[in-house]
Amino acid sequence: MDVTSRIRQLSPAVINKIAAGEVIERPASVVKEMLENSIDALASRIEVDIEQGGAELIRIVDNGEGIHPDDILLTVASHATSKLRNADDLFHVQTMGFRGEALASIAEVSHFRLRSKQRDQLMGTELEVQGGAIKEPCACGCPDGTQIEIRQLFFNTPVRRKFLKTPSTEFAHITEHFTRIAIAYPNLQMTLRHNGRIVYDLPATHQLQERLELFFGSELASQLIPVEATHAGARIWGFAAHPSQNKGTRKGQYLFLNGRCIQDRSLQHALGEAYRGLVMIGRHPVAFLFLEIPADQVDVNVHPTKAEVRFQDSQVLYRLLLSTLRNKFLSMDLDSKLTIGASPASAPSTPRISDLQIQRELVAWTNQELSRQVSAGTFGTQSDVPPFEKFPVLENQSLPPRCSAPETASFPETPSPNDREQSAVVMEPPAVVLHPASAEAEVRAMQVHDCYLVVETTEGITVIDQHALHERIMYEQLRRRVLSGGVEVQKLLIPITIDLSSREAGLLLDQSDLLQELGLHLQDFGGNTVALSAYPTLLAKADPAALLKEIVDLLETSGRRIERRDLIDSLLHMMSCKAAIKAGQRLSAEEMDALLAQRHLCDDAHHCPHGRPTALKLSRDELDRQFGRLG
Ligand code: ADP
Ligand code: MG
Repeated sequence: MDVTSRIRQLSPAVINKIAAGEVIERPASVVKEMLENSIDALASRIEVDIEQGGAELIRIVDNGEGIHPDDILLTVASHATSKLRNADDLFHVQTMGFRGEALASIAEVSHFRLRSKQRDQLMGTELEVQGGAIKEPCACGCPDGTQIEIRQLFFNTPVRRKFLKTPSTEFAHITEHFTRIAIAYPNLQMTLRHNGRIVYDLPATHQLQERLELFFGSELASQLIPVEATHAGARIWGFAAHPSQNKGTRKGQYLFLNGRCIQDRSLQHALGEAYRGLVMIGRHPVAFLFLEIPADQVDVNVHPTKAEVRFQDSQVLYRLLLSTLRNKFLSMDLDSKLTIGASPASAPSTPRISDLQIQRELVAWTNQELSRQVSAGTFGTQSDVPPFEKFPVLENQSLPPRCSAPETASFPETPSPNDREQSAVVMEPPAVVLHPASAEAEVRAMQVHDCYLVVETTEGITVIDQHALHERIMYEQLRRRVLSGGVEVQKLLIPITIDLSSREAGLLLDQSDLLQELGLHLQDFGGNTVALSAYPTLLAKADPAALLKEIVDLLETSGRRIERRDLIDSLLHMMSCKAAIKAGQRLSAEEMDALLAQRHLCDDAHHCPHGRPTALKLSRDELDRQFGRLG
């Protein structure tokens, strides 16, 4: 028999290298493990020095409780840990580490040097390991705490070293782990240096918000919504960012479970659900949420780097997260604030009407439309014109025009903080003094460009996207009726028939029960023809055949595995969009009134179901300030 096919016990060095591959994927994994060790050692200060993305050097210095000289060799022995005593402890893990694998793995694949001193010891102890070869420990001078230096990571596993990315990419991964720990432990003083340059120097703080500001900037920090709730032994606290702070990835979502940053699909889903309708589809909310449950209800030992966990009952946290956030949002006024002179905070990337365009519309309207109406003498003579006689510029005739054409009002797409001053809107005062003929006119809204409604409010003015608002109202009404099982339907004397492909007909008929709940009654008419015998009264204005075609498209793209709840929601979105007033549709005064009257009836009138804002506010103060009426 060929000798290579015999079974042999692997040497510890090989075992450790295999284990190292699991725990230590890249320099960032080393940093994560080291930071966790320093936290477990109750350090209050941690310094991290990185050279060349960690490929040359990773040095972590902490002021924690240190390691006893007699234990120094055990730090790099596999499965040696000070954190677990018996198997039972594994189910009540209170520390970040517990597997006793990290240092052994790291020392196996690097030039490793550790120095540590406990407070009550006179001298520190030094240990050096070169690619798994342990040198005799010796006494050394060192401050209280532990210093670990890792040089030439993966020097003896060339394949791994070769696969390291550029220093800046590796450093970005390190920064991410550093950030997670720094957010989870704001009371830790932490520094991070790369190639001798300070990247973060974080003072200890009791305010998580302060730390978030250092990482994510003051704009985000000022848009944080505090949340807190407890239920069934589980607690959630932290901050959810205003929906306007959404991102293209989930990278802004930090979920911590018992102090550990975790990636959990189900909880991410709950977060997405909580913001449903508040951020655009395809965009992701930003949140920093801390979940706490008794240690025995979660298994943290299911993933080598402990990034994933398993819950005894994942539904408890799912529901807690979803309901806490949802209730909080419903209790708030989430209208987008229209801030002149600064771009809207990361406006949702929609090819349709963005905040920016709405701002432009407003400026263009103020500059052109209004003055045109004024000079033509039409302003104030129509019953649907709001009483704008308070417009401050109108009395300020001596002010020289600062900006001659609306196009010159600059709105840089992404102004840097320094650009902000220049980007302030400068509006030209209209040439003619305004004397509204019927100042008492009852109507408070005005339609502009057959697209927006401008409404005077006690605080200032609000610009409403007529389609977005109506869509939201329709959506809320339909959803409420579907949930209560009472969608009002209109029966058709003669059913509408539509010819489809056999696949399309099959898709529709498969879902006929669900569609019936939504008020769409469908029957198989034989062949590939489907008959619609009734549809929701609310959708009276929509073209039923076009609607069914869209439903087929939606069923086709969402696939058969889509959850029922999500399918209903998508259908509701689509139906309300179809049935709503369009942009470009001229509204009568009565229609405007009816639309605005319903505005207060829906749970979330501030965003259309796609998450675009339905309204932008411009406060009286803001107006006064812009026109130089305030100090
Ligand atoms: P684990 O953290 O799972 O116990 P590690 O390999 O990360 O395993 O560390 C092994 C042991 O070394 C720890 O249990 C701890 O006793 C000790 N140790 C590691 N880093 C530090 C540190 N910075 N301060 C004090 N003790 C440390
Ligand atoms: Mg550890």
